[in-house]
Amino acid sequence: MQVPAPFEYERATSVDDAIGLLGRLGDEARLIAGGHSLLPMMKLRLATPEYLIDINDLHDELGYIRFTDDDVRIGALTRHCELLANEPLFEAFPIFRDAEKVIADPVVRNRGTLGGSLCQADPSEDLSSVCTTLNASCVIRGADGERVVTMEEFHRGPYETAVEQNEMLTEVRIPIRAGGSSAYEKVERRAGDWAVVAAGAALWLADGVVADARVGLAAVGANTTGIPAISEALRGRPPTEDAWTRAGEIAAQACEPVTDGRGTVEYKRHLADELTRRALRRSARRLGIDATAGAGT
Ligand SMILES: Cc1cc2nc3c(=O)[nH]c(=O)nc-3n(C[C@H](O)[C@H](O)[C@H](O)COP(=O)(O)OP(=O)(O)OC[C@H]3O[C@@H](n4cnc5c(N)ncnc54)[C@H](O)[C@@H]3O)c2cc1C
Repeated sequence: MQVPAPFEYERATSVDDAIGLLGRLGDEARLIAGGHSLLPMMKLRLATPEYLIDINDLHDELGYIRFTDDDVRIGALTRHCELLANEPLFEAFPIFRDAEKVIADPVVRNRGTLGGSLCQADPSEDLSSVCTTLNASCVIRGADGERVVTMEEFHRGPYETAVEQNEMLTEVRIPIRAGGSSAYEKVERRAGDWAVVAAGAALWLADGVVADARVGLAAVGANTTGIPAISEALRGRPPTEDAWTRAGEIAAQACEPVTDGRGTVEYKRHLADELTRRALRRSARRLGIDATAGAGT
């Protein structure tokens, strides 16, 4: 099936207008941002909304990357290509550029948005993994005001989020912490494809040891998966190959992959291990630490 079912079309003029339209049009209304997830689903008749509310005119209101003293705030309508090109974002969180380079192709990246990516809640989604890794929080707005939720609270299952029918995601906030870096590693079947498995890592060093570390995996669970046991295992340890090896072991044990066309459970656990180690190693290298002594990538 290549033709969507008939639908009515509205263009929102502001965030408040979009929320008002969602409330007025009810359960059969859906927001459309870049359309790169929703339109394919409509063509396959996996989604059959009666109303589409186009939010692309809200780019002035929702398309931004702003730094405060404490965090970076990214509007939900910020496009992949804008995340890829933003130098201050790359300086603070190189994981974004690592991930964006391997998301789809320029056609998708020119239109697809951060908000649409997180709200699609595909378990293989790369930016959800990035945001989980960076301990992001999500700002959700409805007619009664705003609420802020963690990534764990935001994702409720595959293709399911904390955003209610008459609400929208407006902003993602990422805390800024000194002494850190980050990286993203992904294995895909061909360039621009969804992940077989991907791993994000963020690492903070102080006094020669790991002050904190976070890992977020994609495509090995119901949603992108943060692994607190890795943080606990690495805190206080020197940033060495032994530490990355232990983190990889935990990742392989903790994840919950399924066998599908992209690979077996065993292969995906192996990738979770290997990609976790690579992402931590690359984060450490970005902080001037090279503990590999020639071992691996
Ligand atoms: C060929 C192809 C390859 C791809 N490869 C990858 C890949 O490798 N990795 C990857 O991560 N992604 C990939 N994608 C997905 C791509 O990143 C999409 O851009 C993204 O999933 C959805 O963003 P969008 O803005 O297009 O959302 P849309 O399709 O417009 O919307 C998706 C869903 O989110 C809802 N929504 C959108 N914005 C909001 C909001 N602000 N508040 C509440 N709900 C909202 C919509 O109602 C809809 O339910 C690929 C897509 C294509 C077509």
